[in-house]
Amino acid sequence: MSSQLSQLPVVVIGAGPVGLAAAAQLTERGLPFVVLEAGDGPAAAVREWGHVRLFSPWRYDIDPAAARLLADADWVRPADDKLPTGAELAADYLQPLADLPALKPHLRYGARVVAITRFGLDRVRSAGREDTPFLVRLADGADIHARAVIDASGTWGTPNVLGAFGIPAHGEADVTAYLENALPDVLGRDRDRFAGRRILVVGAGHSAANTILALAALAEQEPGTAVTWAVRAGSPTRTYGGQSADALPERGALGTRLRQVVETGAVTLLTEFRVQRLTDDGDTVLVSDGERTVTADRIVVATGYRPDHTITSELRLDLDAILGSTRALAPLIDPNEHSCGTVPPHGVDELTHPEPGYYAIGVKSYGRAPTFLLATGYEQARSVVAALAGDWEAARDVQLDLPETGVCNSDPVEVDDTITDGGGCCGAPATEAGAEPSGGAPLNLIALGSQPVEGRPGTCC
Ligand SMILES: Cc1cc2nc3c(=O)[nH]c(=O)nc-3n(C[C@H](O)[C@H](O)[C@H](O)COP(=O)(O)OP(=O)(O)OC[C@H]3O[C@@H](n4cnc5c(N)ncnc54)[C@H](O)[C@@H]3O)c2cc1C
Repeated sequence: MSSQLSQLPVVVIGAGPVGLAAAAQLTERGLPFVVLEAGDGPAAAVREWGHVRLFSPWRYDIDPAAARLLADADWVRPADDKLPTGAELAADYLQPLADLPALKPHLRYGARVVAITRFGLDRVRSAGREDTPFLVRLADGADIHARAVIDASGTWGTPNVLGAFGIPAHGEADVTAYLENALPDVLGRDRDRFAGRRILVVGAGHSAANTILALAALAEQEPGTAVTWAVRAGSPTRTYGGQSADALPERGALGTRLRQVVETGAVTLLTEFRVQRLTDDGDTVLVSDGERTVTADRIVVATGYRPDHTITSELRLDLDAILGSTRALAPLIDPNEHSCGTVPPHGVDELTHPEPGYYAIGVKSYGRAPTFLLATGYEQARSVVAALAGDWEAARDVQLDLPETGVCNSDPVEVDDTITDGGGCCGAPATEAGAEPSGGAPLNLIALGSQPVEGRPGTCC
């Protein structure tokens, strides 16, 4: 690396859990860095779903380097086996981490990155690229030069559309007044928008499950509240997950409770419902899949997220054609191959693009794959920072211990949410009736939307 480059900071985009873990790793390695966060404080995305309880207990939610720095500052570590809410994750861990004297001077809030390029070069120019600083442009027009960029900007800001084919449904743009982003605080601050209304929840992941359970509770308290749940799949068993076989009991219990509210009729389930057309009908919205029409007062769009690649369009990224992750990571996380997805340990090698010095980590690294867990992101951060420090032995010594979901599904899947499962791949027992069979063989021909496409060689088992 040229001496000019080595004196520049590493830019970290995003002060979420994984961006802050990268900052902790950079601090321990003594590398100069700056964290650019669009929100007005750390954990801006996590705070938006602060009313939701994580299914991972604290032991999986805290980055080891961050814990070491916090321990030196007399931080009281939360009990390992307790489940924090998003608000607690932010208040009891991420805010104290961001406030540490070692990190705080290097964090800039209200700093939204709008583009990343190389100073003086566009994507086509090759000569000298590796020794040329990155230029990171902010929304206010400021430019920051960097030796490397760790993009931990997440996917929360770019939710999927309601239309089932990946593009907006007919009329979707005309009915935005009826649409709710995933995970509204149904029993708290957003209650008035849902009480006594007909609510349609669309999606098959944990965001949908959480919202349906909250709405079912609301319906018990508020007469007239009616809840309909629409999924593209032929059955909701994937959303029910491993239930009692899940190594994270709270994640398993979510599926069990969901199944109960469906089976008792508290929630009306529509399977194979692919939203194609939305029509404003005065003060209600009509939702059609071409054959059936649902009348709703509000629609919760819990259809998952996709990464924003617009800020990196001048960089040389080799993105997987299906997921938008790196191509090396994609076979390890592709939901077409494994719903179960224990992710093998991975780090800098799997996260490397042709553009030297740019790494997407955290939930953004997974592209559209729905199985990201914090522990995965913390190990990514450790490995990438070790590589930036030139410690390739540590960078390649990747370790990852993820709890199993108790489900392994070999059927073509619905990619509806960012947080469906995150544990055991292949062979974990699915003990409850209704759970998917275990030990699924990878598929080579899968159905994505209505188009059959070639899958990749399976690496699940
Ligand atoms: C409801 C919910 C529950 C979850 N529960 C669990 C769980 O129990 N266990 C688990 O392991 N995982 C869980 N996850 C999954 C995952 O761990 C979280 O999504 C986690 O927040 C991802 O961390 P991140 O740092 O990668 O991204 P984020 O937390 O999304 O952080 C990204 C940050 O980047 C900022 N940003 C975005 N764009 C820009 C930009 N252009 N410029 C500057 N800053 C930008 C955002 O404001 C944000 O602060 C859950 C996710 C959700 C949504």
